[in-house]
Order: sequence, then structure tokens, then C-alpha cells
Amino acid sequence: MSTWLRDDTEAVACCVCHHEGRPLYDLDPFGVVRCPRCTLVFVSPRLRPEALQRLYEAPQYHQGVYGEEGRFSPAMFLQRQWTNGRLALAERELDRKVFGTRLLEIGAGHGLFLDAARARGYDVNGVELSETAAAHARDTLGLTVHSSQLADAPLEGRFDVICAWDTLEHVPDPVEFWKAIRGLVADDGVVLFSTPYFSSAPSRLLRRRWWTLKPTEHIWQFTPRTHRTVAEQAGMQVTRTLLNPLSKANLTRLDSLVGVARPRER
Ligand SMILES: [Zn+2]
Repeated sequence: MSTWLRDDTEAVACCVCHHEGRPLYDLDPFGVVRCPRCTLVFVSPRLRPEALQRLYEAPQYHQGVYGEEGRFSPAMFLQRQWTNGRLALAERELDRKVFGTRLLEIGAGHGLFLDAARARGYDVNGVELSETAAAHARDTLGLTVHSSQLADAPLEGRFDVICAWDTLEHVPDPVEFWKAIRGLVADDGVVLFSTPYFSSAPSRLLRRRWWTLKPTEHIWQFTPRTHRTVAEQAGMQVTRTLLNPLSKANLTRLDSLVGVARPRER
């Protein structure tokens, strides 16, 4: 990956308080900072949108994320455990018959999760920024996956289940992202998400050497507490946070969590 210069970066404020952050780590040309009001950790300076677009368009990026892995590789084994665990979690949280229930995945990648959800009986839709990945999901798996920003996707009606796996830490503004989700989820629907978390043991122990810090891409670093704060700004309530690396939905992930959120009572 190329070397980034200061000109590629811009300073941003906390998406909740619009407050400047206080420095935690200096990772020149990036900074990891914490909001003094709400404690949300974020990257500032961070890559400008144009530079970020270049990063995500690079073919190596998606190779790194999804890989051209064989069916029986360890990575694919874990992928299947997560998919099964997360679909089981969705069914428990939904607490009604899955058949015909509408599910939307934001950041659908190559469509592996949507394919499995469809096999369980969900009526599935996806949004994926990468045209290459979305085309794979459409052409190889016959899925409906829009390649655009969430706000620009031609989605109709509300969804009973919305999933965003390892996505929230990448979006330009998580409060805006949650607001868009709030507009798409049914009043009795459920949102499932996963992200790395800053209060995890690897993050605390390894500090600036934590492998998941990745300041180019992971521009917001949450904790269970700041997830609640951010979601509340958009009328959503985080009702469950799963940290256990032994649970199937989060298997082996020492530094990531799976969360469940619902619209707040109006
Ligand atoms: Zn804040």
C-alpha cells in the first residue's frame, strides 16, 4: 500500500459532540484521538474522502479482505462459523418466522452472508460500495446487491433485519449512518452489527501496535459504551453486546464484538 502524506489527510471532530479529540497515539500522518466529552475514539487527521476512495478501489484491498480462499481454508471455515452464528442470533432476536422476512446487509462484500441468509428463507437485499464485489454477488450468486453509498441505494420499504458486519468503523459519520439505518428498519425490526472494539484486551495490551488499529480504514474505534452513545443520537438503542470469542457469531475474535440494536420506543 502506498505511503500517505499529510496532504492526503484532514482533521475531523467527534460525530456525536462535534468536539475536537485529545491525542492518544501519533501515527504520522494520522492521529488517534479521544473525545473529551463522550469518550469516542476516532482517527484525526484521517484520509480525505478522495484518498480513501483510492484505497478501497485498489484490487489488493479486497483481496486482503475477502481473499481468493479455497472452500476448506481456515479463513473460510471461520467465515462459515460467523455466518451461521450470526444468522442464529438474528433468528433469536427476531423471534418470529424467518420465511419472507426482509433482510438488508450493508457492506455485503461478495455476498456470502446474503447467500446463506437467503438459504434460510430471508428475502435478501445488499448494498456494497465496491463495484467488483457487488458484481460478483449479482452475477455469481444471483443476489440483489446495489453498488452505491447507502443513501443512494434504490431501496424500498422497511427491513425486518439489517446487518452491518465490520462496517461502522469505516463510515465517514457513524451518527449519520445510524440515522439512515433508523429510516430503513421496521419499528419492530432488529439491527445486527460487528466492529473491532477499543477496550478489548489486544487493544489495551498492544496499544499503538494493535493489529486492528489500521488508521487508514478504521476511522472510528468504539467500545460497548460509545456504541450505545452513538446509536442513541439516531433514535436507536443497543440492546445487546456480545464480546465472547467462543460464541459462534464472534468465534476467535478477541478484539471484536457483535451488537444488537433496535429502534427506541416512540
Ligand atoms: Zn464526543
